[in-house]
Amino acid sequence: MNITTCVACGGKQLDPGFIPDAGDNRSSVVMGWYAGEPHDRKFLGLKTGSVGSNAQREPIIAYKCADCGFLHLFAI
Ligand SMILES: [Zn+2]
Repeated sequence: MNITTCVACGGKQLDPGFIPDAGDNRSSVVMGWYAGEPHDRKFLGLKTGSVGSNAQREPIIAYKCADCGFLHLFAI
């Protein structure tokens, strides 16, 4: 990724990082992007969440503006 300027304030320092998310086993994983529509996940007929296909998952990186805190998200 080659972003150099904050789209919100024009700041020039963007620090790379990531946003943890809870996976199926509740361990921390990096938040991901999934192609298409979310699929309902059900257990005993009750909706327990929405997921995409793991094959389509792309990790998301987040660049935080050092000046205003705006997050720029990119699927890699
Ligand atoms: Zn900014």
